[in-house]
Amino acid sequence: MKDNQLILTLFGATGDLAARKLYPAIYRLYKAGNISDHFAVIGTARRDWSHEYFRDVVYYSIKDEITQAHEADEFLSHFYYQAHDVNDADHYQSLATLMTHLDNQYQIGGNRIFYISLNPVLFPVITHNLRNQGLLTDNGYNRLIIEKPFGFDEASAIELQIQLTKDFNENQIFRIDHYLGKELLSSFRKFRCENLWAHFWSKDYIDNIQISLAEDLGIGQRGAYYERSGVTKDMIQNHMMQIIALLVMEQPCNPSAEAFRQEKIDMIKSLKKYQTLDEFKKHVVRGQYKANRAKSIPGYRGEDAVDPESLTETFFAAHIELDLPQWEGVPFFIRSGKRLERKYTTIHIVFKAVDEHYAPNYLKIELDPQMRIQYYFNQEKPGYNTGSKVVPMTFQYRSDLETRIPHDYERLINGCINNRLDDFVHWYESKYAWQFIDHLYDYWDQLNGEDLAFYEALSPGPEAANELTKAHGTRWYDYQC
Ligand code: NAD
Repeated sequence: MKDNQLILTLFGATGDLAARKLYPAIYRLYKAGNISDHFAVIGTARRDWSHEYFRDVVYYSIKDEITQAHEADEFLSHFYYQAHDVNDADHYQSLATLMTHLDNQYQIGGNRIFYISLNPVLFPVITHNLRNQGLLTDNGYNRLIIEKPFGFDEASAIELQIQLTKDFNENQIFRIDHYLGKELLSSFRKFRCENLWAHFWSKDYIDNIQISLAEDLGIGQRGAYYERSGVTKDMIQNHMMQIIALLVMEQPCNPSAEAFRQEKIDMIKSLKKYQTLDEFKKHVVRGQYKANRAKSIPGYRGEDAVDPESLTETFFAAHIELDLPQWEGVPFFIRSGKRLERKYTTIHIVFKAVDEHYAPNYLKIELDPQMRIQYYFNQEKPGYNTGSKVVPMTFQYRSDLETRIPHDYERLINGCINNRLDDFVHWYESKYAWQFIDHLYDYWDQLNGEDLAFYEALSPGPEAANELTKAHGTRWYDYQC
């Protein structure tokens, strides 16, 4: 039996994520031959849909990708729907019967992936019933994919971990961080370790590292969720931490997922905590967007399901450091926000200047809106004694590599099918990230909102964030706030 013969059961099949990301991802895997014909997808949610109606929904979400109608029809025929309330133990029996039937029909041989795309409070009741109602097999693999957030602080994450590991062990749990599915990030280690940069990747040559995850959108209909999370729990605890870990991790001692993830754990664990309130205030900026009347954009406090006096941060910036000899004294300037001027995701590795007369060289790794890596260096302007200018050398994905680039969720679902745990977040990565985030909240609790910097919606962000870079004698290499 091959790994790509499987039943994928999706909890939350009527949801937004499933329609926007998951069905297209499964279809791309099928078209590329990464899923065999021995597969079935069972969609579950509370609504009472028929198989046909479900197939129509899936069709609608993949229709832009269809190149051959008969191939799409064949693909859709593998989709089944089962109305299911995750709190109702009897419903698991109906699901078990359908699984056994499909396993025989498609000669699958027992491999099962359970993808839970639901509110995380529902994870434990599902995992408990999967095991106790006999939905796990003995003759194939049983894997669990779960979406963020993994808890709301360290204590709730520990509680969730205790619950899940009663029924699944750590190596069966695939925690999604969709940034780990991004081509440029997942291939970044190769770029860094197989090239000249490997010699320069330390405090001896790197002056500072900057990471910006900026969005122009507001919070939409997610007010209730966002009030609890803010940008810090929504973006920093997971995506930002993963990027930092991938940027600086040491070469693992062997090629296993375990060794790879251990290196990342060590990086996240090494984040230095601020020792005093003064140090914290100097190094951390939080902001919230206010209305942009000219563009008729409401402020955060005017969004649906948001407290009109909310102190929730929609912008976060900080100067952080790692407690590791090889990175001693190197500032990481990180920032993320909603309703900023434009959407962009960039990483800048700023090298130490050759001497004070020359501008520093830097690497710009752009994940969004372009996918490219640029090396910026000093070059003489044409003419006589005209001085030098910083110019880029560019590697652009799509034009320079003649191959299809897998989408985030496609890469991750494929990773789970092939048991590539290194594409997923280990429990300890999540735990140590929460420890860092929790300590930020300890300081914010003391400040009671006095530090909240307001910025106009669709502006570059609060000016206070520029002080972080200025204090180190540098600037944000992308947009100044
Ligand atoms: P959604 O609200 O659109 O869908 C939720 C789904 O859960 C629906 O299918 C609903 O029927 C089902 N459901 C709710 N309660 C149920 C119950 N008791 N029994 C059975 N089914 C039940 O949510 P979404 O946007 O699809 O997100 C799903 C998960 O993915 C959430 O945990 C979210 O935090 C996470 N996530 C979503 C996105 C995104 O872009 N939408 C991104 C990252 C993470």
